[in-house]
Amino acid sequence: MTQTSTPTTDRCEIAIIGGSFAGMTTAITFAKLGFDVRLIERAPYPVTLDDSFDGRGHAIAKAGQQIFQSLGLWQDMTPYAAAIDHIRITDAQRNGRISPLQMTFNVADLGISDAGSYRDGPMGYITENQPIRNVLFRAMSAALGDKLWTECEVAEFDFSQPLPQLGMKDGRRLVADLVLACDGRPSPTRKAAGIGLKSWPYNQWALVTCLHHSEPHNNWAFEHFMPDGPFAALPLPDLADGTHRSSLVWTKSEAAAKGLSRLSQDDLADCLNASFGPWLGRLTPVGQRWVYPLSAQHADRYVMPGLALIGDAAHGVHPIAGQGFNLALKDIASLAEILVESRERGLALGDLHQLERYQAWRRPDNAAMLAATDALDRLFSTALPPIRIARDLGLAAVDRMPRLKKRLIVEAMGFGPNFGSKLPVMATGVLPG
Ligand SMILES: Cc1cc2nc3c(=O)[nH]c(=O)nc-3n(C[C@H](O)[C@H](O)[C@H](O)COP(=O)(O)OP(=O)(O)OC[C@H]3O[C@@H](n4cnc5c(N)ncnc54)[C@H](O)[C@@H]3O)c2cc1C
Repeated sequence: MTQTSTPTTDRCEIAIIGGSFAGMTTAITFAKLGFDVRLIERAPYPVTLDDSFDGRGHAIAKAGQQIFQSLGLWQDMTPYAAAIDHIRITDAQRNGRISPLQMTFNVADLGISDAGSYRDGPMGYITENQPIRNVLFRAMSAALGDKLWTECEVAEFDFSQPLPQLGMKDGRRLVADLVLACDGRPSPTRKAAGIGLKSWPYNQWALVTCLHHSEPHNNWAFEHFMPDGPFAALPLPDLADGTHRSSLVWTKSEAAAKGLSRLSQDDLADCLNASFGPWLGRLTPVGQRWVYPLSAQHADRYVMPGLALIGDAAHGVHPIAGQGFNLALKDIASLAEILVESRERGLALGDLHQLERYQAWRRPDNAAMLAATDALDRLFSTALPPIRIARDLGLAAVDRMPRLKKRLIVEAMGFGPNFGSKLPVMATGVLPG
């Protein structure tokens, strides 16, 4: 007689769908806060943790660094992080040369450093994605053990029951008090829940690779705006032998980005040195190259009973300001505050009223960042002479307005009016070790 095995049904408080940057950080946070968590990731980690998987660096703003500090993770990330102490923003002239009218941010000059506060400089850090992914994976594996379901895809979503129910492709089932969707821009969870989405393409692609350069970056991040998109050189830690490095993000049309990605090393080096200013000396592209299509999107809602969207599942922004993952970190920190309060007040984790507080907290902030990055990209992507001249004058004018510059930097550090002081659980570093 053949035996058919009945699928097992597991039960947990919080089911996290997606185990990339947002999902892993969410799992570590809620496991540390004592919630019974499952994380389900369909990709094999040996593939996604390999160096060849992702060549990007993430700018981690000061608020994000503070969140990692609270989670006890920052010390393991510091070897892969270079501080941003200065930012130089330049614009291309009609002849392709760099306009002399530019804007610089220097954290020390702006007087942002309030001794003893979480706002102490630097403004943020550039981190290398793959080592950081590995740090997150190790911490998540230690926190979750066999509650981490890898190479496992959620194929069925039922939000019509009193508690959400998930069905895996391999037959396992899971009932949770709350589902957190960290399943990225396509978010099957968002689709299954019937949550609408506004999205728009940029017709731009980002070429990403590592640059070696003859002069030290001295913790400067450079963003040079050209008509087909920005060219950013973002500081990375020097190699052990003293080689100076930065991460290149060069935004072009699809054909141009793919064309550059196929150039020989010498030809790409010539293009880079012709386009970028003198600040880093001779630039040499090194190693693998990646290209990423750019688009923006925003979910119409972040929550419904028993479900909340986090990270790119909720919002996808243009990487011009390096904020996508930073917004996810703020989502996670905000939701942690709310769910800890739900638990203390004896409320259900999937309680819609509580989840709506998360949406009310985060959606306007994320919408503002979407609008700001979209406007920035459009403003700097036009070569029309009157607009180009006006924006150069604007850059130079803002450069002479220290109070406005300070406000812009505090926002970029992640400490806008809607964040920071409202985070007793995360921002004061009181998470259990
Ligand atoms: C060129 C570029 C540069 C960037 N630079 C920065 C920067 O400097 N700073 C910054 O903060 N942000 C930056 N970003 C944005 C940042 O990379 C993203 O916001 C972030 O990686 C999104 O992470 P996520 O975990 O939300 O989504 P994703 O990385 O898309 O992860 C989704 C995960 O869900 C899994 N999944 C999906 N469906 C299922 C399912 N049904 N079952 C199980 N698993 C599932 C997938 O396998 C995947 O692992 C940049 C983006 C680009 C393109």
